[in-house]
Amino acid sequence: MRCAYSLMVHGGAGALENVKDEKTAVRYLDSIRRILEHGREVLSLGGSALQAVEQCATLLEDDPIFNAGCGSVLNEDGRVEMDAAIMDGQNLLAGAVAGVDGVANPVQLARLVMTKSEHVMLIGEGAMRFAEHCEVPRVPANYFYTEDRIAQLKEAQLRHKMMLDHDEAGDGVSEDQKYGTIGAVAFDSNGNLAAATSTGGIVNKRKGRVGDSPIVGAGVYADNETCAVSCTGYGEEFMRTVLAKTVSDFIFMQGMDASEAADAAIEYLRRRVNGRGGLIMIDNEGRCASRFTTRKMIHGWIEHAGETMLSF
Ligand code: ASP
Repeated sequence: MRCAYSLMVHGGAGALENVKDEKTAVRYLDSIRRILEHGREVLSLGGSALQAVEQCATLLEDDPIFNAGCGSVLNEDGRVEMDAAIMDGQNLLAGAVAGVDGVANPVQLARLVMTKSEHVMLIGEGAMRFAEHCEVPRVPANYFYTEDRIAQLKEAQLRHKMMLDHDEAGDGVSEDQKYGTIGAVAFDSNGNLAAATSTGGIVNKRKGRVGDSPIVGAGVYADNETCAVSCTGYGEEFMRTVLAKTVSDFIFMQGMDASEAADAAIEYLRRRVNGRGGLIMIDNEGRCASRFTTRKMIHGWIEHAGETMLSF
């Protein structure tokens, strides 16, 4: 039986209404819309959920306004250390990389780990050796270090803080630095689910810190029996609550739909760890849902091949 495809993408939890400059706000929304339309084309032509999430995540990584790929935030040493993961709900295959630098698209490297290695996750130097083995081209250092990112790191260091790229006001973080991590989830016409998440992590993070984004079950999860999930927010809180898998378990064990599972998971995140962030998800009937504990989350979706929707 053919299913009507669904797709969701996010560009991080935060409050777009706080962007002082309207042009910047429009930039975020245009980008999300353009990427959703690209994904629509992939899925409507019979492409797989896995292809759709890899391609959407790649486009998000290629847009410097997001905290992933070329727009990645900087660690305490002023270096980029990116994390990414991808998961195929059909067979629970997954690939992930952590602490990588010098590649334009960590999500593509994660997919190579999934398809061309016998492992699920490779980190740092080992991941880069594998990239070389797969002939993934290296990008020069100046591909990453934008003036904004350097200024953002200086601000965080001045405050002796780590911060989300899209931190909420009240955390002592300037209002124009709130957006970030990217993710995509898809449901294709064959009923398959897939998810991808990619990030530069948290501004001024310790060297070697890995967040939730590349951790299967924390920042990403996909299982055809339940749902596909991508998370964004303070990674440590999503790791401690294994949030993406928790969403899936609510569906598997309690028969919830996307909306109910997203509610239950966010309630759990808030109640147990006072977690800051959000998630996008599609369940095994192609229903979309998103929830967040931050004021807003930049995201958009196409449910059952319908209209393109944006939320910020
Ligand atoms: N979850 C990411 C991390 O902790 C950050 C984010 O979502 O912005 O690395």
